[in-house]
Amino acid sequence: MKITEVRVIVTCPVGQTYTLVKILTDEGVYGVGEGTKNGRELAVAALLEHHLAPTLIGRDPGAIEDIWKYLYKGAYWRGGPIHNSALAAIDMALWDIKGKVAGLPVYSLLGGPTRRGLLTYVHTHGRDFEEVTDNVLQRKEQGYRVIRAQVQTPGMPGGYGAEDQNDPDYQRSKTERLPYEGVWEPEPYLQIAPRLFDHLRAKAGWDVELFHDAHGRLTPIQAARLAKDLEPYKLMFLEDPIGPEHAPSMKLVRQASTTPLGIGEIISSKYQILPMIVEQTIDYMRCSPMHIGGITEGKKLAALAEPFEIKTAFHGPGDVGPIGAAASAHVGMAIPNFGIQEWVRHADLTHEVMTGGPWFEDGYLKLPNTPGLGVDINEDLARRYPWERKYLPAIRRADGSMHGY
Ligand SMILES: [Mg+2]
Repeated sequence: MKITEVRVIVTCPVGQTYTLVKILTDEGVYGVGEGTKNGRELAVAALLEHHLAPTLIGRDPGAIEDIWKYLYKGAYWRGGPIHNSALAAIDMALWDIKGKVAGLPVYSLLGGPTRRGLLTYVHTHGRDFEEVTDNVLQRKEQGYRVIRAQVQTPGMPGGYGAEDQNDPDYQRSKTERLPYEGVWEPEPYLQIAPRLFDHLRAKAGWDVELFHDAHGRLTPIQAARLAKDLEPYKLMFLEDPIGPEHAPSMKLVRQASTTPLGIGEIISSKYQILPMIVEQTIDYMRCSPMHIGGITEGKKLAALAEPFEIKTAFHGPGDVGPIGAAASAHVGMAIPNFGIQEWVRHADLTHEVMTGGPWFEDGYLKLPNTPGLGVDINEDLARRYPWERKYLPAIRRADGSMHGY
């Protein structure tokens, strides 16, 4: 079997552009993959189309490990968020082909099912404690066993996961299609976050797992304080207490409390998270297979972490489309150290453009046992929704200085 075409498909069905590939073969079997990088979708598409696709024509699609290594090391310039997302898209499509040829779901090729479903969670947020509590209780009712909770910091419209959408700057950013630059300060945030969880435990009880995302906004000592202050509320984990580039500082955060820690959604390579694995300064790895090189790397990363009792919590919000979500789910289904999978149900139209993938059932994600990844692209429909410019927000401190997101 030989690869005859690598088709790059860029589509924006409902407010989020997805970068997809379809790899075709001389035997009629094809595979699909995704390499979406939110706010940089066309950079991944250009790399795929102009630089990677021509080198794949005529190759055996079954030689996944060799093709991965060829694209990663053979190009000399290796790694990075754009390159590894492009590589992930190709890797997924090759696994999809292999599964279809074998007549088996990809998780079966990776070692077989290790569980009946994948524990998942949902995002909740609100302008105040009451609004967050209402959301948490509603989601609990819907069957979610784990819930992320974020609250707006009073007077700080740029709260992560709880932006003030009435902020005139927020509304202008939507009209102009430019990044929102909200205002945020650490001290009021550090005071309100533990109080939110005190309130939630009182109102929503202890029969639901809760966690919180600090989104890498804190300094190491601030993160240590937050982890310590959250300790009484027994979170499943505190997400991204600091930026992943400060791996050595995770020791300081770790020593402050027994609050479990998760990190890494902006990581693009196993080499970046490796120090935190071997030093056991984290409990959950947040990197998405779609951003670190695909299914091949997702499986390897899980194997690296397993002897250190570190579990996966692969990134999977709305900018990971149904194909990327399927790839994460297949890895999760086949590894012993799966922890939890972030997942959102997309708009109906998005699921018409990218069909199949995991679905939610009683707190868990389920996968079909169809051969390959169990997802497909409706190309005619996808072409009707071209790329739209969109950015993630940026955050400034009260004095106007740049902070991050
Ligand atoms: Mg996050």
